[in-house]
Amino acid sequence: MVGEKNSSAGTVGEIGEKELIRRIAGWLGPVNPPSPEGIGDDCAVFLAAEGSPQLVTVDPVIEGCHFDSSVAPEAVGAKLLKRNISDVAAMGGLPRRAVLSLALSGDTRLDWLRRFFDGLGKVAGRYGVSIVGGDVARKEGPFSAYLTLIGEAAGTRVLTRRGGKIGDWLLVTGTLGGSRAGHHFEFTPRVEEGVWLAAHAGVRSMIDLSDGLAKDLPTLLPPGAQAELEWDELPLSAVLAGTVRDREDGWRHALTDGEDYELLFVLDESHRPQDLIRDWTRRFSCPLTLIGKIVAAPAGEPDAPPIRLPASCPGLVLGSAYEHFRR
Ligand SMILES: [Mg+2]
Repeated sequence: MVGEKNSSAGTVGEIGEKELIRRIAGWLGPVNPPSPEGIGDDCAVFLAAEGSPQLVTVDPVIEGCHFDSSVAPEAVGAKLLKRNISDVAAMGGLPRRAVLSLALSGDTRLDWLRRFFDGLGKVAGRYGVSIVGGDVARKEGPFSAYLTLIGEAAGTRVLTRRGGKIGDWLLVTGTLGGSRAGHHFEFTPRVEEGVWLAAHAGVRSMIDLSDGLAKDLPTLLPPGAQAELEWDELPLSAVLAGTVRDREDGWRHALTDGEDYELLFVLDESHRPQDLIRDWTRRFSCPLTLIGKIVAAPAGEPDAPPIRLPASCPGLVLGSAYEHFRR
């Protein structure tokens, strides 16, 4: 059986999420095309016979993992769709239609489910998403729901995680580090913002911050590069103000808490970030902040961290960003 002890085979928990995904790609072989059509970005990209590039992504909500009984069912349904919408936003796309797969036990309460669908439906209406089908399976144990979202590029291109070069600027929308104070249910997917950024010729690549800067930012770096951050410019969430011990503690939340669902992107070094921020401010109410740039990693230091640590606190730990399976 899948959970049976067999020390030589190893377990998912021993290798962690990143290595697991690498192995799945290997097991699938040629039926997993190279990213961004295959595994490796916020959405898979494919070209329909004619028209805009299409996007597809899937994300779940699982009881005991993403929510517990203290969370209103409307918020659970809303979050399920919003976290998928955020992945489409990260490619500069517009969400269009979704299918939903539920796995639930026979004693799941109907009033709970009705409220779950109420929350999901309100978000779908707000973002113009049609729920076009799905599946219901019986499974004892915690409630889980998987939503597959299909979107399309608003313009002629989608932004992937690739394209950043040494010298380029790093910018982020909104504020960071507020997820534990409840922001991870209340966030707003940055759809209009993502579409606007994808239409800007200077923006090279983008990701939504679901696992934290420490894990998500490195995926935007080309080989041999490091991110140099302006630590005091990091836009920390106001909810952190009353809870963090010091500056370093605030940075730690921004780096590792995850679930900010803000957009992090790379701007070509030939563009002035101040000009982009000025144009942005005329259009959007959420902040846009220049947080650093991509630099060359120090020569002869193969173990240099992907994010250069602040000189004032070299002990800041980058390795603890949210990683499924590993503890
Ligand atoms: Mg994502």
